[in-house]
Amino acid sequence: MTPFQYAHASDAADAVRRARVTGAMYLGGGTNLVDLMRETIERPSALVDVTGLSRDIIEQKNGGLRIGAAMRNTALAEHRLVRKRYPVLTRAIVAGATAQIRNMATVGGNLLQRTRCTYFYDEEGSRCNKRLPGQGCDALDGFNRGHAILGASKACIAVNPSDMCVALAALDAVIHLESLSGSRRLPLTDLHRLPGDTPDIETALAPGELITAVELPPLPPSMRSSYRKVRDRASYAFALVSVAAALEIEHGHIKDVRLALGGVAHKPWRAWKAEEALRGQPANEAMFGCAADAELSEARPLKDNGFKIELARRTIVAILSQLAGELA
Ligand code: SF4
Repeated sequence: MTPFQYAHASDAADAVRRARVTGAMYLGGGTNLVDLMRETIERPSALVDVTGLSRDIIEQKNGGLRIGAAMRNTALAEHRLVRKRYPVLTRAIVAGATAQIRNMATVGGNLLQRTRCTYFYDEEGSRCNKRLPGQGCDALDGFNRGHAILGASKACIAVNPSDMCVALAALDAVIHLESLSGSRRLPLTDLHRLPGDTPDIETALAPGELITAVELPPLPPSMRSSYRKVRDRASYAFALVSVAAALEIEHGHIKDVRLALGGVAHKPWRAWKAEEALRGQPANEAMFGCAADAELSEARPLKDNGFKIELARRTIVAILSQLAGELA
């Protein structure tokens, strides 16, 4: 590990001030960043510890929630209002990592966790454009079973590993940001980038910008939501494919629907095309399959991951059928 300075921020303004140092990074639970530092993939000159910042959940007048970015993942998943109003979020968080990691990980840190592409972590033996721009990507011709089928580029085929972010994408979450130039809000679906020619730039955050909170808009009371994750083993494994879904049905037809996919792209993949195909249509398995096909029509399999396309289709159909059954 490369030597670094450490400072504990007293509030958001203090954190942003301290992060002015070139090469400084914010430290949440450290469950990803510290691993990357041990591997010397990340070499921050300074860590600004933001775990002392807001970890509250504040109920909004409109029925939504504002979640402090320092809140631990376990606390968020277990919170009474989250379990009741956003079960998709509770399920997604509980599907991720281990209990010990969830106890440490923060909401802000989870939003910024980096890919688990094995070539990215193999600094000694593999080429990686994300780690070193212009170097090449050994995953392209390597073992790419876990890599992207949507939105990838010739520069990078990695996937975003977060479960929580998939649920937040489906829930239209909004991120609150603080920097020396003021504060702003950003839709979660605009936070993460597709790789393009610059896979090393993973988010729309400006240098030094701090995530202070996540806002969840209210869901209609008649909407049901859930999360389904398909992986190689039952715990401590990243998604091959996951789906976050929320569904509202009126008189047998789909009034509203939210769908997002995980494990398939460089960012949590909001399934806009599938949603559009479903609104106003009968809530049945055939329709769910047509919508999944519409979303996956641009999927491009790699050498080892063609199975993901059918897996994503089946997972979309399965979770929507489950929710439709609960609403019947
Ligand atoms: Fe690096 Fe992306 Fe290629 Fe993985 S897929 S080796 S992260 S450039």
